[in-house]
Amino acid sequence: LGDIGEFGWIARLARRTRSASDPGVLCGIGDDAAAIRINPPILITTDVLAEGVHFRREWGTSRQLGRRAFAVNASDIAAMGGRPAYALIDLRAPATFPVRELEAIYSGFRDAADRQRVVLIGGNTSSARRLSFGVTLLGRAPHGCLTRDRCRAGDDLYVTGTIGLAALGLAALRAGRRRTVAIRRFLEPPLRVEIACALARTGLVGGMIDVSDGLVQDLGHLCEASGVGAVIDATRGPVPAPRGRLRRRELEHALAGGEDYELLFSALPALSRRIGSIARRYRCNVSRIGRIVRTPRNVRVVDADGRPLSLTARGHDHFRKRR
Ligand SMILES: [Mg+2]
Repeated sequence: LGDIGEFGWIARLARRTRSASDPGVLCGIGDDAAAIRINPPILITTDVLAEGVHFRREWGTSRQLGRRAFAVNASDIAAMGGRPAYALIDLRAPATFPVRELEAIYSGFRDAADRQRVVLIGGNTSSARRLSFGVTLLGRAPHGCLTRDRCRAGDDLYVTGTIGLAALGLAALRAGRRRTVAIRRFLEPPLRVEIACALARTGLVGGMIDVSDGLVQDLGHLCEASGVGAVIDATRGPVPAPRGRLRRRELEHALAGGEDYELLFSALPALSRRIGSIARRYRCNVSRIGRIVRTPRNVRVVDADGRPLSLTARGHDHFRKRR
């Protein structure tokens, strides 16, 4: 990076984005600020992947890192029922950082972004002791915003995909292992934009959130915002269960592990067939895992017989010391 310098890098980036040809971009990379045409509402989110905090370089490839940086941000836009449209990247890297590696990170990012027709319109580069890759995404919500405060008592609770596998993968990486299905799931989070938009389009979905900090914790956020409570049936969870038997460890990772980037949402019971057909259409597993109840702010996890399970693990908190 020291060889081509900041401006060399920016020029290189500008040559490789479509911002000049996108009709929504009045002014893309290369001026003091970007200018875009906005028809409200727009969604804005930002998230950073910092070396030593969120990842270690040896955990995966640079392309996976770039793709992941896109996916974790797109997940927040999807969780609002929206579609990402524009991106800004805040890159911090040591001057000794190889340009080839940087290209690979951006290429992973661009591949994922291009597939969603997201245009990179600007950002910032600065030197730092360790690599960090911050992304700001702007998105549209043509079908309205699926905010967290829309859950109502009596709603069913659903979650997309599989829960708990990514947390198992992160634990495996921290234990020094390198290649497992779970690790791949952690390094390559799913993109649920299409199904989120399809659900938003029904106009009948309640509150929605993406599961990034742990199912129980994120469900707690939904309940708090909506002034309701929830009951999860642990046996219905889309938890990876080796040989069909649900083990304690998998269950704890599913309920508290985080990093899943799946969608958790509530919907009227009458919507269950419609949700089933949307799931088939978008080839995405959608599981009904419980229901919303009147008791405010209380998330209970029960077993097949309705007995409450007590859990030791809690969700992820960025500033709390790891257990
Ligand atoms: Mg989120």
